[in-house]
Amino acid sequence: MSKAFASQADIEEKRITFADLGGGAYAYTAEGDPNSGVVVGDDGVMVLDTQATPVMAQDVMERIRGVTDQPIRYVVLTHYHAVRVLGASAYGAPQVIASQDTRDLIAERGAQDFKSEVERFPRLFRAVESIPGLTWPNLSFRGEMRGWLGRTEVRLLQLGRGHTKGDTVAWLPESEVLFSGDLVEFGAAPYTGDAYLEEWPATLAKLAALKPRALVPGRGDAVVGPDRCQLAIEQTREFVTELLASARSGHAVGRSLKDIYRDTTERLRPRFGTFAIFDHCMPFDVSRAYDEAGGIRDPRIWTAERDQEMWRSLES
Ligand SMILES: [Zn+2]
Repeated sequence: MSKAFASQADIEEKRITFADLGGGAYAYTAEGDPNSGVVVGDDGVMVLDTQATPVMAQDVMERIRGVTDQPIRYVVLTHYHAVRVLGASAYGAPQVIASQDTRDLIAERGAQDFKSEVERFPRLFRAVESIPGLTWPNLSFRGEMRGWLGRTEVRLLQLGRGHTKGDTVAWLPESEVLFSGDLVEFGAAPYTGDAYLEEWPATLAKLAALKPRALVPGRGDAVVGPDRCQLAIEQTREFVTELLASARSGHAVGRSLKDIYRDTTERLRPRFGTFAIFDHCMPFDVSRAYDEAGGIRDPRIWTAERDQEMWRSLES
């Protein structure tokens, strides 16, 4: 029997944790489903990544209301992926912030990405009809932006490409907490279908140089302790480095995408096969690695049709 497309067979709900990391930082995590971050300051709240739908975002709101009555002033999008941004309207935040590169990607491919992601992972889009449309940032920046929630400083940093062209992390210099978005995963496979694999490790080195005390990854449990933060970053680096190396060596000797997919999956499985969404990610990940190995600089747009065509050709 062929494998069900992407994660259409993944229907089991996950257990949610809302962890207090100190300094007003909280991690909303769900056993490998997309995380949200929360920063509570003296006079307001910032939410980092919103969940996929306004109905799903209500649960994040309830957790926030369990710890503060302060207004939600800022929503930050770490990158453009639908599963992280389309719940934004639920928070009613006056400011929705993203890097200019992320805003450009929403304009260029947000609509295709919305359709593609809903079909890949229907469980993650509960009450999809509550999404009012694409989420448009009304503040954008390049490089760095600093904000203050009263006395709590938040630095939004675009340190380089990796998971996407527009990746942004949030850094709390006082409490040394890092919100990495999908640049770092912990116990979950990195999705690299829209990635810049060659550049990703250099971006990770800049994250590591911040020396976080705690880290909220894009997926997986919150990571506490400097050594464990470095481990999470290092595991992500190993995954993306091995993936690209495998695609390059196959490409160099003229192997087909399908053969490279098989080789690479077997090469990564012993180390990463138990990570959440490994089997979901690999066809997309190897497709992008193959393109990058062949000199295609910018990731090609995934459409619902391209998703199906790729899955049929690799999984049949
Ligand atoms: Zn993502």
